Amino acid sequence: MCGIVGYTGFRQAQPILLEGLKRLEYRGYDSSGIAIQSNGHLQVRKKAGRISVLESTISAEALQGTCGISHTRWATHGAPNDLNAHPHVDASGRIALIHNGIIENYQALRTYLEHRGVEFKSETDTEVLVQLIGHFYNDDIEAAVRAALRDVRGTYGL
Ligand code: GLU
Repeated sequence: MCGIVGYTGFRQAQPILLEGLKRLEYRGYDSSGIAIQSNGHLQVRKKAGRISVLESTISAEALQGTCGISHTRWATHGAPNDLNAHPHVDASGRIALIHNGIIENYQALRTYLEHRGVEFKSETDTEVLVQLIGHFYNDDIEAAVRAALRDVRGTYGL
């Protein structure tokens, strides 16, 4: 089992997102990660191992911003390592995604996107979904997510 935390508001997001992950620790996980958006830029940090490893990675340079997401992963597709940890980001660098579940037709979708020039950074089914959302994105994130989910078979909390 894995967990998703999201925050948007007036407070700094990082401490809330990390505290949320610690509360979800009991569910079991192999890696964790966080993305915070600030001034239109995404800052992403992710690490295999315990949440304390992620925490010490970012303690030296706190991520500023009041909107973000965090994840504890239980790997199904791709080894539990830093690259395969969530969040995953699309090729444009504008969209970060966290996903619980399995995209069953990820291989066919990956091949489709690779033929259109998308370069993948991880081995996960999740990256296929964020790249597909990026493929459809035209300044309307809801429309892009809907379009992507029409092509996806599987299970997903996003
Ligand atoms: N299938 C995804 C992965 O392996 C999500 C796993 C999860 O639900 O934590 O990265």
